[in-house]
Amino acid sequence: MPEKKRKILVTSALPYANGPLHIGHLVEYIQTDIWVRFQKMRGHECWYVCADDTHGTPVMLRAQQEGIAPEALITRMSEEHQRDFADFGIGFDNYYSTHSDENREIVTEIYRRLSKAGHISRRTIKQAFDPVKNMFLPDRFIKGTCPRCGAPDQYGDSCENCGATYAPTELKDAVSVLSGVPPVEKDSEHYFFKLGDFESWLREWLHPDITKARHVQPEVANKLSEWFDAGLKDWDISRDAPYFGFEIPDAPGKYFYVWLDAPVGYMASFKHLCARKKLKFEDFWGQNSTAELYHFIGKDILYFHTLFWPAMLHGANYRTPTAVFAHGFLTINGTKMSKSRGTFITARSYLNHLHPRYLRYYFAAKLNGRVEDIDLNFDDFVARINSNLIGKYVNIASRAAGFITERFGGKLGREAINKELLQETQKAAELIAQCYENRDYAEAVRLIMALADKANAFVDDRKPWLLAKDPAQKEHLQQVCTTSLNLFRLLTIYLKPILPNIAEDVESFLNIPPLTWRDADSLLTGHSINPYQHLATRIDPKSIPALLDEAQKDMKTMAEKTSETVTDTSDLARHPILPEIGYDDFAKVDLRIARIVKASYVEGADKLLELTVDLGGITRTVFAGIKEAYQPEDLEGRLTVVVANLAPRKMKFGNSEGMVLAAGPGKKDLWILSPDDGAQPGMRVK
Ligand SMILES: [Zn+2]
Repeated sequence: MPEKKRKILVTSALPYANGPLHIGHLVEYIQTDIWVRFQKMRGHECWYVCADDTHGTPVMLRAQQEGIAPEALITRMSEEHQRDFADFGIGFDNYYSTHSDENREIVTEIYRRLSKAGHISRRTIKQAFDPVKNMFLPDRFIKGTCPRCGAPDQYGDSCENCGATYAPTELKDAVSVLSGVPPVEKDSEHYFFKLGDFESWLREWLHPDITKARHVQPEVANKLSEWFDAGLKDWDISRDAPYFGFEIPDAPGKYFYVWLDAPVGYMASFKHLCARKKLKFEDFWGQNSTAELYHFIGKDILYFHTLFWPAMLHGANYRTPTAVFAHGFLTINGTKMSKSRGTFITARSYLNHLHPRYLRYYFAAKLNGRVEDIDLNFDDFVARINSNLIGKYVNIASRAAGFITERFGGKLGREAINKELLQETQKAAELIAQCYENRDYAEAVRLIMALADKANAFVDDRKPWLLAKDPAQKEHLQQVCTTSLNLFRLLTIYLKPILPNIAEDVESFLNIPPLTWRDADSLLTGHSINPYQHLATRIDPKSIPALLDEAQKDMKTMAEKTSETVTDTSDLARHPILPEIGYDDFAKVDLRIARIVKASYVEGADKLLELTVDLGGITRTVFAGIKEAYQPEDLEGRLTVVVANLAPRKMKFGNSEGMVLAAGPGKKDLWILSPDDGAQPGMRVK
């Protein structure tokens, strides 16, 4: 049934211009690209825009470290990012930069409108200032001793040890990580976006009953409900010079915080496209726009996209998003991507060893419309590509094409047989389309592979290789091969959003114009095709260890580069080895294997998880500052190592009766220890 032609604008989150893309980023771009290609195949007007996110302190400092201008850094990064995207087949209609005239113009206009409507306030805040580098310090650039528990070497906003959050000015013995000197406190006037002004509008926009929220997924509605309950605070949108960004109008030395102009980059990139394609910007962004607007994002930037962004747009008289689609993170072999385990894989090192279409297919086979993490398990990856993609799908063409070329001069028969199977495969078009529309690609792939199984069963049943031996069966052979190539053509239509390059090769093999969704209504008969060329090969299992090896080497090179920079941020430099102790001192520490039997969030705590650990018969309650690094359900059942004889510590949320051992700089980058198989709860670690 032909749908009404829709006007759709789609964005992916903007990659930050201070580092290369990794395969975790690609989940989002592949997810979005598949959706956009699907919409285009359906005949809709669909535009996909993105840009590099270029502003902020990290870009400024990295450029300084490299001794180049920030503009030179962001130009180089943009080229690298675009090369990676192109190689993965990400088909942006426009890829731009937040450091553009269009972006400056639009963000300035939004700011002026918000300001005029009274949604911007100013007040003086105290902020840490580095007197050597002569700049205000973001919280992450300050380290010192926790004011609550006394743990050394904690970041300026929170303690990884006890979970306390505080102002950087409360840290003891604080130093700037840039210069190593203690920061001084300095007053500075900051600009704030009064998000609270929009609370009732946001609630209404989402839905008066938040459990029925529009524009977001159901899981996100729960999160929003928590945020509303916690109260919407003013958002600090200014930063002081030196800062790489746009200066705030009539406020010399004050810059827009990078997070204010980043989402505006969606508009700027589209505006740039409008000029090229003669589109009307207002049709998509004006208050009365009837176009659909979708943002694909990771679950870590929901606050920006479901609260700040719609409020900013509404307050500045622009249209608001039709929906924000959040996805989870990528894990590798069941754990977070890790630099030390060599599973921190850049897009480029992947491309050096494996074909991009494999990753597109694999991610598609795992993605659904929910905010769930997806796992790249390399054994599963090889199996799915080799047995499903190649073994089931590509195989159908290779089994039939040779006979058509050699026996029938490349001509398909005038008639196909097994009408039931062909009709069943054609009828699946709408169901599969629904799956794509709902971003449930895993279900689409499952349905397509089930049809591929039936197509293969048909070939197995008719045995064209035997028919070919019997001259009396010549016509039947042509019909069988014509049928299987038609089944293959239908499957190609359904897989085309995921595998555009294979589809293109199939189109030239079948000698047909680019396939659209509507082509599933028809069959190809009495038509001349070209000789079959190999479409795809199996994964050589040796390429996986080679890839992981390169990923490990990449990390070493990156670590070496980092250690040459202004401040040595290597772990040893930040935490020199402590003074020697005797064996007796060590023996006083009672380390035990423990099983985490229960893990849960702690109400009101930003960093902490409450863990119930079994020490082989006795259980203890331990609070661990690992909330940003682990989901509670991923910890339950795991073995780890606990300091069992540490004096209990009274914390805001209860008594902590021990300590779980973990390594890493903090926040998301924390890794708890696991024993090898065989260790049992209660065993002493010595
Ligand atoms: Zn602390």
